[in-house]
Amino acid sequence: MASLAGINRLEKEKFECHNCKKEFSDDEIRDTWKCPKCGGYVLIYAEDEETNTKITLIRKVANEVKVGDLVHLPGGLTEESYQVLDIKNYGSKLSIALKNHGVHKVSLNEPINCRVGAW
Ligand SMILES: [Zn+2]
Repeated sequence: MASLAGINRLEKEKFECHNCKKEFSDDEIRDTWKCPKCGGYVLIYAEDEETNTKITLIRKVANEVKVGDLVHLPGGLTEESYQVLDIKNYGSKLSIALKNHGVHKVSLNEPINCRVGAW
């Protein structure tokens, strides 16, 4: 499986699994962004001081993204997220239709920042 370590990130990030009520270090989770104990998505509390951004994320492989998810575009973590309206699969690529943005094309194994909240 491809490593998801190359995803774009904010300067300060904390990682926590709510199922296990446990915090993890960067090293423990940065290849998968899933909990080593229960396999669920790890919640990422990400902060950028310069833009006063404090957001909560999970990180998915593109083929795990679902209709209704809120997606941050690459390089757009301090900007708005876009709701997934539709997903079409073209072999090794996905075509993700985003509300107020249009179609975003990605590889099946591309890591995606999904917005789940703020803090
Ligand atoms: Zn867990």
